[in-house]
Amino acid sequence: MSIQFYNTISRRKEAFKVIDQNKVRMYTCGPTVYDFAHIGNYRTFMFEDLLRRYLEFRGYEVVQAMNLTDVDDNTIRRSRERGISLTELTDEFKAAFHADLKTLNIQPAHLYPEATRFVAEMIQMVQNLQDQGYAYQTEDGSVYFNIAKYGQYGKLAHLNPDEMVSGERVTEDSYEKEGARDFALWKGYKAEDGDVHWESPWGKGRPGWHIECSVMSTELLGKHFDIHCGGVDNIFPHHENELAQSVCATGEEFVNYWLHSEYLLVDNKKMSKSLNNFYTLRDLLEQGYPAEAIRWMLITTHYRQKLNFSVGRLEESQKAVNRLREFRNKLTKYVGNGSDDASDRIRIARDQFTVAMDDDLNISGGLAAIFELVRWGNRSMDQGELSVEGAKSIIITIERFDHVLGVLDMDSGLDHQVDEAFIEEKIAQRKAARANKDFAAGDTIRDELAALGIELIDTPDGTKWKAG
Ligand code: AMP
Ligand code: ZN
Repeated sequence: MSIQFYNTISRRKEAFKVIDQNKVRMYTCGPTVYDFAHIGNYRTFMFEDLLRRYLEFRGYEVVQAMNLTDVDDNTIRRSRERGISLTELTDEFKAAFHADLKTLNIQPAHLYPEATRFVAEMIQMVQNLQDQGYAYQTEDGSVYFNIAKYGQYGKLAHLNPDEMVSGERVTEDSYEKEGARDFALWKGYKAEDGDVHWESPWGKGRPGWHIECSVMSTELLGKHFDIHCGGVDNIFPHHENELAQSVCATGEEFVNYWLHSEYLLVDNKKMSKSLNNFYTLRDLLEQGYPAEAIRWMLITTHYRQKLNFSVGRLEESQKAVNRLREFRNKLTKYVGNGSDDASDRIRIARDQFTVAMDDDLNISGGLAAIFELVRWGNRSMDQGELSVEGAKSIIITIERFDHVLGVLDMDSGLDHQVDEAFIEEKIAQRKAARANKDFAAGDTIRDELAALGIELIDTPDGTKWKAG
């Protein structure tokens, strides 16, 4: 049996066939780097990680590109609010994003294209669409995609023709389905864009959000590639618009499989910045929840089901990870002299895991197969039936499964969390010691913090600190 994926565009499960032999090309819409990502965002990135890891488990070579949206309505607005340049803002959150991916043991993408580095190619694609009559310029130096010119518009999001009003325009990057209109490919310069602008055939301006992903995906993965992912809120308008732009610009098919993950909820509402009901990874680590519990919680509900965040779920998740880790430890130390080499059990577990996961990443079925092996293995060790060779084979099998789960060896992330209040308190104690001319005590505090990787910097405005 082949892998089946639920394809958003057809609304059904389809057998997975790769365009280029064994090499899967996959584009995953990345974060808008204007703030810390919240764990709702990470649910989507974690689903994409699971997908890639499973394809690798099945022997495919995967090339993954994940863009970083470093210029759009949100990034410009936030940099102006904070009174810093766009680059200063986005550099800060690009770094935070990469650090979080590492903590969550999300495999790094092969390519992280940044929108601001592809503006020339974006201008070319917009020009191409205009030359072919798919786009038109407006008086303010913007260019819009004319949705009436593309007969398939609405196919991905299954738009009702009544919901589409061509000839009317929407300027914002994000809008609701009911507001399907001609959308901005290129945005003519406005005062609120500050110093964020590029020269173009239509005057000074900047790209719209949707064209960014059309350009970066086709530049890096080719005009026609295998998989495109995001959260369900990306289906409309972002992916609908990407699809229209790409197909019209290249005249070729764009993507074979569109996969979208459902939301992480809080009290049955989407976790989001705008509802202010979100947790960042840092928030949870500071509260003492290890990264592996967060990872487990986010990957073990099927990606097309909504998942309610709860502390209880995190605690359950930790127990599940511990069970797996303890099982491996027990196997490692096993010295019994039974004769069962576990080969039958291993084959059953591998088959069941693969059958389940082949079915659109049915993770519950996959986990059931793993924990069945854990139960059997524990019993077999307790009764001394397992051979030492059998224990070794089970370890190899569990580690193969863990290529998909990615939890056995991950770091909890807790040691790296700096308790800011503690540091501030130490800085205050050092200041008091120095004021009393007790420089030795002051130095002891400095050394104590240095041992924790915290460097103190004395400035005319007081002592600042930096985590090394
Ligand atoms: P953004 O940085 O807003 O572009 O979002 C990055 C990714 O996170 C997108 O693929 C969104 O679909 C996804 N996302 C946003 N909120 C949630 C949520 N509550 N649950 C799951 N995915 C989300
Ligand atoms: Zn995108």
